[in-house]
Amino acid sequence: MIHTPRTLKAYRKQIRKTLEQQFLRKTLDNFAVAYRESRVKAFADLDLEDLRDGIARARDHALERLPELFEAFKAQAEAAGVRVHLAGTAAEANVIIAAIAAENGVRRIVKSKSMTAEEIFLNDHLQQAGYEVTETDLGEWIIQLRQEGPSHMVMPAIHLSRYQVGELFSEVAGSNQDPEDIDRLVKVARHALRPRFIAADMGISGGNFAIADSGAIGLVTNEGNARLVTTLPRVHVALVGLEKLIPDLKTALTILKALPRNATGQALTSYVTWIKGRTPCTTGPDGTKVQHVVFLDNGRLERARHPVFGQALRCIRCGACANVCPVYRLLGGHGFGHVYIGAIGLILTWFYHGRDNARAIAKNCLNCQSCKSVCPARIDLPWLIKQVGRQVMDADGRRPLRNRMLAKVMRNRKWFHGLLKAAAVTQKPLADGPRLRHLPFLLGRAHDFRTLPTLAAKSFREQWPTFRPQVDDPKLRVALFIGCAQDFIYPEQAKAAVSLLARYGVAVDFPHEQTCCGLPLTMMAENETAREVAQQNLAALDPDPYDYLLTLCASCGSHIRENYPKLLQEHNTVPVNVRQLAAKIIDFSSFMVKVLQVQPGDFQGEGQSVAYHAPCHLCRGLEVTTEPRTLLQIADTDYLPAADEEVCCGFSGSYSVDFPEMSALLLERKLENLTATGADLFVTDCPGCIMQLRGGLERKGATQRVMHMAEWLWESRKKDWI
Ligand code: SF4
Ligand code: SF4
Repeated sequence: MIHTPRTLKAYRKQIRKTLEQQFLRKTLDNFAVAYRESRVKAFADLDLEDLRDGIARARDHALERLPELFEAFKAQAEAAGVRVHLAGTAAEANVIIAAIAAENGVRRIVKSKSMTAEEIFLNDHLQQAGYEVTETDLGEWIIQLRQEGPSHMVMPAIHLSRYQVGELFSEVAGSNQDPEDIDRLVKVARHALRPRFIAADMGISGGNFAIADSGAIGLVTNEGNARLVTTLPRVHVALVGLEKLIPDLKTALTILKALPRNATGQALTSYVTWIKGRTPCTTGPDGTKVQHVVFLDNGRLERARHPVFGQALRCIRCGACANVCPVYRLLGGHGFGHVYIGAIGLILTWFYHGRDNARAIAKNCLNCQSCKSVCPARIDLPWLIKQVGRQVMDADGRRPLRNRMLAKVMRNRKWFHGLLKAAAVTQKPLADGPRLRHLPFLLGRAHDFRTLPTLAAKSFREQWPTFRPQVDDPKLRVALFIGCAQDFIYPEQAKAAVSLLARYGVAVDFPHEQTCCGLPLTMMAENETAREVAQQNLAALDPDPYDYLLTLCASCGSHIRENYPKLLQEHNTVPVNVRQLAAKIIDFSSFMVKVLQVQPGDFQGEGQSVAYHAPCHLCRGLEVTTEPRTLLQIADTDYLPAADEEVCCGFSGSYSVDFPEMSALLLERKLENLTATGADLFVTDCPGCIMQLRGGLERKGATQRVMHMAEWLWESRKKDWI
């Protein structure tokens, strides 16, 4: 039975317990690193982006035609002697499959791995009806013996050590099993499962593809057990999600190019099986096998038509969105999902297992974009996860007090900025130099893993009228969008950038009416206010007079470019200036390298050893990866690459408030990796990351400095150049 916490409090308690499992973290760490490397190798000879476009297109095309594809499949399959069923709900599917078992006098059932069967709790239903059901995929069999759900869609027992399996198999075999002898452990499974295959009356499989123009199903497996399940018993039932319908084999082969590569880094799995029509079977009623295909709707038809959530049904179940997720890497699937796990699991839980199961887990997303960047079907997973949060909140009819307060304050720019100004004055009793003290009293002890900065005495916008550099005859005009952190906490970062740009003859404007980009509101699923704030910024930032809209905060930049159109689309109006604005957005490093083409001679970093942290919203949101590293070389530094350079630092705004334990661990790893380079300066491009890294270093009493790229460049400029 799967117990998924329904409140944030209960979920955090579960998280704290899970984080104590050192073995789990180590295993998932090793896997994450190995997976990343093997995936890159597996796709080396393919045009991956082209393939992803092709899969997304093909899946969308199929999803638009599901009823038609179902009818075509049914006609073809039934002509070949197969009975085809359509189950509207999970309960109906269970009843249909139990009825097939009853009418064929079945007692023993073997199963191959099927997430759709997990979705409907098929084993429980059949066992309660008196059938003996045996999972035959090694991982599935292990978790069946342990009475657990899968912790990964492709590798269901990845959370277990060989010692745990050795102990379990010792019980199964009735003799002590050496956990180091993997071959021997596999033999135990083989020895136990073979007789089950032979004695089984019915085999149940899933289906990776249901091909409409032939009535065939396709299975992609690694262990060969699915072949035994579908061939040996006299009855075969394939349980297939309706969204697996595709028009033809060509589409299946396109998906097959990505599925094993993205799942496990294999060019192809050990077995790809195509089954069409009834096959000879000596124990079958008339010398042929009884064959059924049960399609499961369970809300799929309705979701496929949904303008926002429809894309989730493109999923080909490769599991990659878990493999790269920093949250999954810390918690595994039992702590990060319900039946379905990982990024897609947070969405499918709401689809198939209801809002109570989705409520707490859907909050556990850093919005780091890693899942989106590897999804072969180009599903916008982080956005959909936030929209699930929104749907849950709407259905609950309750918005947390924090949400309501934030929305109220952010809606009114003058009020919001006035409050920040007032806080900059009243914070003094809480301040200890540039940082706040008494943090645990404000937020709770779990938040004490980092210090937090104080607000600047004077915001950037207050300093702007006197600071604004004069640029005569400018070669470029740029509007600066700096976001709240640089405006009110770190104005020195923005001043460094503006000072540098002035030296290069760039005239910078600071449109005063700009306000928060609205990302914190989106993170808290406050779409209405996020939309209002977006509209305020659109009104403040007329792109026409400017060559570029420069942002020094990767999160603001990627939110404006990626999310403004989606927010405004919800009202079916995407103003033209959103597209113009999005097209003109550029981050600081790209502007320096690609637009200004700055040269090494301008800087004297004097071989300073520097490690770099790549902000999620820069390397994946804005897809800027080479320019910051190039800039570090240009600045005459000794750039020392860190491990997991592009993995989230754990800041993610309100996430670190809701999940301080997770944020603290992600930060700890990030600092370990940066520190291991031996660099004494850490450079990045996002003020949120700077807050997290500095706060963590200060709390440890470490001496490394953390700087925004603009600050470092300003500091390392040639002094005779100013
Ligand atoms: S959402 Fe994408 S990455 Fe995740 S399992 Fe589905 S296809 Fe794979
Ligand atoms: S955005 Fe990041 S944290 Fe959220 S589900 Fe995707 S990979 Fe995980």
